[in-house]
Amino acid sequence: MTVIGNYINGKSSPINSGRILDVHNPANSEIVAQVGLSTAEETQAAIKAAADAFESWSKTPPLRRARVMFKFKELIEAHADELATLITLEHGKVFSDAKGELIRGLEVVEFACGIPHLLKGEHSLNVGRGVDSHSLMQPLGVCVGISPFNFPAMVPMWMFPIAIACGNTFVMKPSEKDPSTTYRLAELLTQAGLPDGVFNIVNGDKEAVDALLTDPEVQAVSFVGSTPVAEYIYSTACAHGKRAQALGGAKNHMVVMPDADPSLVIGSLMGAAYGSAGERCMAISVAVCVGEKTADHLIHDLTEEIAKMKIGDGMSTPEPHMGPLITAEHAAKVRNYIDLGVGEGATLVVDGRDTSHINEGKGFFVGPTLFDHVKPGMRIHQEEIFGPVLAVVRVDSYDEAVKIINDHEYGNGTAVFTRDGDTARKFSEDIKVGMVGVNVPIPVPMAFHSFGGWKRSLFGPLHMHGPDGVRFFTKMKTITSRWPTGMRTGADFNMPTMG
Ligand code: NAD
Repeated sequence: MTVIGNYINGKSSPINSGRILDVHNPANSEIVAQVGLSTAEETQAAIKAAADAFESWSKTPPLRRARVMFKFKELIEAHADELATLITLEHGKVFSDAKGELIRGLEVVEFACGIPHLLKGEHSLNVGRGVDSHSLMQPLGVCVGISPFNFPAMVPMWMFPIAIACGNTFVMKPSEKDPSTTYRLAELLTQAGLPDGVFNIVNGDKEAVDALLTDPEVQAVSFVGSTPVAEYIYSTACAHGKRAQALGGAKNHMVVMPDADPSLVIGSLMGAAYGSAGERCMAISVAVCVGEKTADHLIHDLTEEIAKMKIGDGMSTPEPHMGPLITAEHAAKVRNYIDLGVGEGATLVVDGRDTSHINEGKGFFVGPTLFDHVKPGMRIHQEEIFGPVLAVVRVDSYDEAVKIINDHEYGNGTAVFTRDGDTARKFSEDIKVGMVGVNVPIPVPMAFHSFGGWKRSLFGPLHMHGPDGVRFFTKMKTITSRWPTGMRTGADFNMPTMG
């Protein structure tokens, strides 16, 4: 059995901590790989490799750095099936979804290919007589990424392509639940011509993460994962003087107005609630229906559609609509939430707890589940379940729907479905959520915009990738210069006169 180690200085580096975790195929629970968990010293070796590589890489012209990204893009395209297979094998999402994830990551690589343009900075002529100012965007040094299990390719690619293209060197700590895809990306980066040490991988758990958060050589930490860990990462990194951005959990609401197009609503909701078994930070987990009739129709149509769904191994053909959850523990946690919802008095319309008929009873499956009459105080509405469980909340008015969303502790994504422009515009302006869809259920910003939520879905001022990604991975320096032809006493620049 392969034991995945670290990737340091352009090659594999074994982990000798003696701590090894099994990596499972969630569709049948078989062990498909093992991953080592690094010690603090092993983590420091990766940081040192990145620190040693920084001087030369940071001075490599941005155009040459972009050429590595172009080559990397070609290699990802050439290995797309292989990478998507790894994602499905270790994560469980269906193959086409794995391919989709890869494409979203690839788009950030494409964005990073434009780095010479993105780093051009600003210039002002004659800020005083004969005095010019220009701003540079310089790399920070060693940057770190820590990623969750649910997007083993896309989320690391939200981080490292931009960081590296900006001239930083990088240490990536992937999720220990599905580490193989990120590791393969590291090999492809080396093949693309990236100098050794510029991109390194440390596999591990809290011990490795803590070593990354406290090492004085690390300048910036980019994190995506659950809210309690995001809060910990952000406060620890900041306390150690690092720049940090930490994206956390979510509970995304979709408002269904009485005038919404019913078929668009149902098609969108089925994919947004149950795609990837609900293990997406932008999944819709609450549908807020305005008006009893709207809710009655929605429940009726969803029940019919759910009955048609096929659940199974994401590699099988024809492809199922939905695969398993990541681990047996997580599947048990999602089942417990369904028990809890019943106990709290919500109406269980479709019960996904019994999965004995799916994939011969093997794997970590929970079927699509639908609750009606969910009330805002209930834990199944307050907490992130991260599974295929959709809660329907009935309200009488648009204002009530908006209040439920704005009062919620999470603010990652949301959507409104309506044919009325006034309602859509008001919603876009008033809602306290970072990413908003109008008749779009999962409004994930493209790579050239930035991705991030509000409230307890994001700690730190800057969002991920796009313009904010470039800001996060660079520091600005402003240079003011005076040349002899413009020189007079100098006093008028420091103490300008009127006119
Ligand atoms: P997680 O928080 O358990 O783990 C994320 C990373 O943190 C992993 O690399 C893990 O090894 C590390 N980690 C876990 N516990 C730690 C600890 N105590 N100290 C230090 N490091 C620790 O998250 P997960 O279960 O892998 O991923 C699912 C979560 O990620 C969900 O809450 C989901 O909403 C969130 N997520 C958010 C976004 C977003 O954009 N906001 C995107 C994807 C996933």
